[in-house]
Amino acid sequence: MRTQIVAGNWKMNKNLEETEALLSELSAKVPDTKAEIIVAPTFVNLATAVRSLQSSVIQVAAQNMHFAENGAFTGEISADMLLNIGVDNVILGHSERRSLFGEEDSLLEKKVNTALARKMRVIFCFGEELEERKNNNHFAVVADQLKNALFHLEASQWRQIVLAYEPVWAIGTGETATPEQAQEMHAFIRKTIGEAYDHELAEKVTILYGGSVKPGNAAEIFAKPDVDGGLIGGASLKCDDFLAIVKAI
Ligand code: PEP
Repeated sequence: MRTQIVAGNWKMNKNLEETEALLSELSAKVPDTKAEIIVAPTFVNLATAVRSLQSSVIQVAAQNMHFAENGAFTGEISADMLLNIGVDNVILGHSERRSLFGEEDSLLEKKVNTALARKMRVIFCFGEELEERKNNNHFAVVADQLKNALFHLEASQWRQIVLAYEPVWAIGTGETATPEQAQEMHAFIRKTIGEAYDHELAEKVTILYGGSVKPGNAAEIFAKPDVDGGLIGGASLKCDDFLAIVKAI
């Protein structure tokens, strides 16, 4: 059985008071589930999140980090800083980092290497743009993103990788991939990993779907055999919506 995960990417939302309020509501209402539950508040509220969730099953992730150990990188956050406050999950390669902040596969490869070297778990995001899907190029794009940032890894390092397939056209747009489209791509991702490594390894990799997952569509998407949970943006900002998605798994 693969690890199932529902992770909430809060992006640049929730100030300190709002973070505390949402976390205490989540902790109070969290259902009993075999799935792992992760929340990713903004950097400045991570330490608070770790403290408030100390006795909760809910884990904390950062939304990004720099690849360097330390140094003259104004505005950046290192793996050491995250680990030092108790954060050992990190989202890398989110489409907003790629499109708005110019993060390319070669940079992500470095970030992944740093995170893994520091024994962190990476939630690695990737997915095609609308134009690429329209041109029937989506499989090639996704295969390249995986190859460029991850296929240099040793087989044993894949234990620290969680994949999040997020078609860019479905992020924050209200448009979701159909469960069939998600399954088709997840199966392709698993096959691609199987060919690069081996089938057994590919079967063990947790692959999340992300892109306008809501309480009303989560169960259908999560029911697909190669979908192991979700990375949730907008709907993770409301306690009841997020927990309804958790319950759907
Ligand atoms: C995301 O940003 O990772 C995401 C999936 O956002 P949304 O759920 O809002 O589409």
